[in-house]
Formats: sequence, C-alpha cells, structure tokens
Amino acid sequence: MLCCCVAVLHPYRHILGLWQPDIGPYGGLLNVVVDGLFIIGWMYLPPHDPRVEDPMRRRPLFRIHMWESKKATVECMYGHKGPHKGDIQTVKKDEFSTKCNQTDHHRMPGGRQEEFRTWLEEEWGRTLEEIFHEHMQELILMKFIYTSQYDNCLTYRRIYLPPLMPSDLLQPGLFKGTYGSHGLEIVMLSFHGTSARATKLTGDPNVPAGQLTLDVDLSRPVVLPDLEHQRQIEELSRLVLGVHEEVQREVEQQARVALLQSVVQQWGPVVVPAAERKRWT
Ligand SMILES: [Zn+2]
Repeated sequence: MLCCCVAVLHPYRHILGLWQPDIGPYGGLLNVVVDGLFIIGWMYLPPHDPRVEDPMRRRPLFRIHMWESKKATVECMYGHKGPHKGDIQTVKKDEFSTKCNQTDHHRMPGGRQEEFRTWLEEEWGRTLEEIFHEHMQELILMKFIYTSQYDNCLTYRRIYLPPLMPSDLLQPGLFKGTYGSHGLEIVMLSFHGTSARATKLTGDPNVPAGQLTLDVDLSRPVVLPDLEHQRQIEELSRLVLGVHEEVQREVEQQARVALLQSVVQQWGPVVVPAAERKRWT
C-alpha cells in the first residue's frame, strides 16, 4: 500500500506503463513498474527463435530509487557492471528520454568482440558459428552495430493498448510472432470495423517497428483446409485468389449498378417515341 502511495505522489509517476523506444527500425517494448522503493524500467524481449510458446524475457534498463516523494536517484542498469549514474528527462506528454552518465560501465574487457558475443548469446541464445545462414549473420551484425551505438540513451513513446470491444473475435493486445530470419517479434493486434490489424512493436529493416504487418479483411470467412493441405502453398494461394476474385466481382457489380443509376438520373426515364411503339406492337 505504501509503495502505491509513493508511486502515485512521485514526480516520476507519469513514466509508469508501456513504452516503445525510438531505435531505428528495431523498436522494442519497455514496461515501467513499481517494485518496492524502486521504479524499474524492464525491456521485454521475445523468447529465442523458434520457441514462440516460451515466456517473454526481460532485462532492467534503468531504475529510480524513491527516497521520498520529491527526491529520487536515477541509475542506468545497462551492461554487466551493475547500476551506475543515469538520468531521465520528460520531453513532452507521452514521451521521455533516458541518458547514461557513465557509459564506460557498458564496456567489456574483451572489447567489441566480447560485447558482441555476449549480446548474441542474450539476444539469440546462440553463437555466430551456430547461425549458418550468411544473410542472417549479416542481419544480426547490423542490428548489434545499430542498437549498441545508443548506449542506453533512448527516447520512449507511450503505447496505448486497444480496448476490448464486444464485436472483437479475440482479446486485442500484444502477441509474439515468428518472422523467419528476423527471429521472433512482438506485434500489437487491434480491430477496426471489419478489419484486424497487427502493428509491429519490434521490427527489422524489412518491416520496421511502428508499421503494419497484417491487415485482415474479416468481412468474408475463409474456410481453411485441414492442416496437411495448409502446408501446400498452392492450395492456400488458390483459396486466397478465389476470395480475391469474389471481392473483385462484387466491386465490378457495384460499379455497374452505380453507373446505371447515374445514367438514369442524368437522362431520366427512357421514353419510347409513339412511332417506335407502333412498330413493336
Ligand atoms: Zn549506463
């Protein structure tokens, strides 16, 4: 109870909740929570590929020691040498920045080589030798070079989870997804009328964080074949193309009706001259 009161009164109370770091195409998920006399910023990471069923992993990026309601100490938790001096600034509503004041604490005695090996072990649970695919090795190295240059000096934007509506097929919110050579990623599912959309919270150079990765038309049901046939890409393509053609036909039909209506409106009812009528009878 005491902790809740401290958190509510505390000047850093506005940074509690879910946030997305601005870190190029990679994004991420930060959860800021009260833990005893600390406010801790946990970076959530998806499980190691391909174990999508495993729980999320997390590591602390900063903590704020709440001595009293008006005074606090910010510590950077990045690296492997324990907490050290850091800073937090609120830029504007729904945005804050973290800064490390002792980035030498992030360095390792073995230099960049050791830092890369350690990062790889944490991020992928593997060594570079175990990742045979050359393209994948390049993607991983690129992510390390890009993300490590920030040294825990990051700007975060608040994440608003979509509310559950009675019409939703399932609970909207955060999901883990497999993205081939990019590993596992976190997406946010939301419903908008007759479409379901998934936006990336973590991303890659192919589809960056913040962009749409799925847009599903829920207006017409698709009956999937049994699991065995779902593995055949031709069968699925045929199914999707069939629905696509059906939609196309409906759109064309609607366009024809609209055209006829506009012709009738423009010209009024067709009046057959008396001479013509005579010829027909
Ligand atoms: Zn630091």
